[in-house]
Amino acid sequence: MIEPILPGATLGVLGSGQLGRMFAMAARRMGYRVHTLSPDDDTPTGQVADLEVTAAYEDLDAVAAFARHVDVVTFEFENVPAGTADAAAQHAPVRPSGHILHITQQRAREKGYLADHGFPVTPFAWIRTRQDLTSGVALVGTNAVLKTASFGYDGKGQVRVRSLEEAEAAWIGLGRQEAVLERFIDFDREVSMIVARGTPGWTATYGLIENTHDRHILDTSTYPARVDPRVERRAVEIVSSLAETLDLVGVLCVEFFLTREGELLINELAPRPHNSGHLTIDACLTSQFEQQLRAICGLPPGSLELLRPAAMVNLLGDLWEDRTPDWAAACLVPGVKLHLYGKTEARPARKMGHITALGPDVATALRTALEARQALA
Ligand code: AMP
Repeated sequence: MIEPILPGATLGVLGSGQLGRMFAMAARRMGYRVHTLSPDDDTPTGQVADLEVTAAYEDLDAVAAFARHVDVVTFEFENVPAGTADAAAQHAPVRPSGHILHITQQRAREKGYLADHGFPVTPFAWIRTRQDLTSGVALVGTNAVLKTASFGYDGKGQVRVRSLEEAEAAWIGLGRQEAVLERFIDFDREVSMIVARGTPGWTATYGLIENTHDRHILDTSTYPARVDPRVERRAVEIVSSLAETLDLVGVLCVEFFLTREGELLINELAPRPHNSGHLTIDACLTSQFEQQLRAICGLPPGSLELLRPAAMVNLLGDLWEDRTPDWAAACLVPGVKLHLYGKTEARPARKMGHITALGPDVATALRTALEARQALA
């Protein structure tokens, strides 16, 4: 049993993007102080934190000093080096712990861990040499996706391949770095589930969220997902058991492919709040960010009650191409909530904000959110 970390305490966030920003907003609402550390300044998290420390993750003296001044350390970015989490852990509890970071920051390791522990994953092969490609194609098939093992997200470092020759060319194109060759799944849809696990021993799982991607980047999320209740139950079983197996303290998002046969395959894990869960801020009594806070602070879980069906659409930097988006026009659409992350530079494919809409059903909520996004252009 851990001592609860109560309002008034200081929470440290490694990373400084929008996930840290929304976490900090939930934390400050509940009377906590927030410090953030990342290599950047004037960051989405730093803008709303009590203290923004600008230091490289490899600057372990700075990390130690940061950790000495907070009551608990969490992260919002899983590519924080394992050594950084270890250095912080000398001075403050790190939740979730560094071993979860270690597993999830490398695709091959993550998939290997899941397969070894009996969780359903897309068939894959770990590629380190040219020979691995030959055996990988034999195992996975020729209809596949080659993904870099590290630092790949939002479709970065991913190439669709359809033969051994294409796989070889793609691997050379990725600089012959460690990679994962994965069977291409002709899925029915993509869904995700967020689970929070705290102490002493509680687990809280939101329902399945339905996601669509554009150019491999999350485009829309709707909640609740329109799936068979059996699929929903199976997902709860998988994510609860995974949270337990990982000995998670914090929030974990599990992204799945739902096959046409109704089978759930884990595509990816994120040991932190996730873009698909942003709609929980407006649609649920307790957001994924507050749930993260409750989990890492040793508080009880918040109610998962869904207030109304909801939809979220992402706002990418592409919207800024010709001019500043027409915020007033989007705000005219009844029932939408605009979230912007305070990023000063809009680049194509960069996540700048999102819009959430609530409605009597998910289809209406999605139409409303899309209408508001359309009004920005
Ligand atoms: P990831 O970065 O692995 O989450 O991939 C981003 C998106 O690419 C996924 O959400 C899917 O839409 C698509 N994708 C990735 N891997 C596969 C696969 N093995 N089969 C089909 N689509 C995939």
